[in-house]
Amino acid sequence: MFKSLIVGNWKMHGTAEEAVNLASQLAEGWNAGNDAVEMAIFPPFIHIPAVAAAVAKSTISIGAQNVSEYSAGAYTGETSAEMLVDQGCKYVLVGHSERRAMHNESSETVAEKFIAAQSAGLIPILCVGESLQQRQGNQTVEVVSAQIAAVVERAGLHNVCRAVIAYEPVWAVGTGETATPNQAQQVHSAIRAQLGEAGQSTQLLYGGSVKAENAAELFAQPDINGGLVGGASLEAVEFLNIAKLIEA
Ligand code: PEP
Repeated sequence: MFKSLIVGNWKMHGTAEEAVNLASQLAEGWNAGNDAVEMAIFPPFIHIPAVAAAVAKSTISIGAQNVSEYSAGAYTGETSAEMLVDQGCKYVLVGHSERRAMHNESSETVAEKFIAAQSAGLIPILCVGESLQQRQGNQTVEVVSAQIAAVVERAGLHNVCRAVIAYEPVWAVGTGETATPNQAQQVHSAIRAQLGEAGQSTQLLYGGSVKAENAAELFAQPDINGGLVGGASLEAVEFLNIAKLIEA
């Protein structure tokens, strides 16, 4: 139907030299790529140009971990979507749980970032997910669906369906805890139902402590089209092994 996507979110790790080394190992290991799977790596902003150069001859795509909702102006410390396109980015994360929690990004701000990214030609990866307390209170689908609805309301359903959505339970991100394949599939299927007909081919990723040892079962679920990997993407062999476990 479409290519699966495996994303490596490097978060705030590494020197430029380490970033280039990791990117070069991935470019070598991924060779000409894979007809069924696209690999994308998301270095810290400052390493994007060096990493883009290191993977230029490979099929690996580049993404950024955040973007400003504004296109230009007096926004000290911010990076616009146009700047990311200019540096070779194809994707950008919006609404990662760490940004929602630590930088107080509301669903409205996430929607503005989504629109700014798409308007500049980037493919936003909209991250959604519930906290442990919300899961224990049986609010998972309600929370995730409200996070998506906030973006649909501002950007339109058609535009959300042509982006990528990553379901990342907050309690599973960076904790070593993973949703069971069944828990993940239930939420992915609810997201697919929320998007309706237009979302039948929207790429839905699972993220939250994915490793080579748990990836195969997660990726085998019918509504999971790939993964968003944090910690395990910082180790080339492990990330390549995870990527190889994805079937289209
Ligand atoms: C992430 O950074 O989005 C993530 C899922 O991290 P980890 O794989 O380390 O849980």
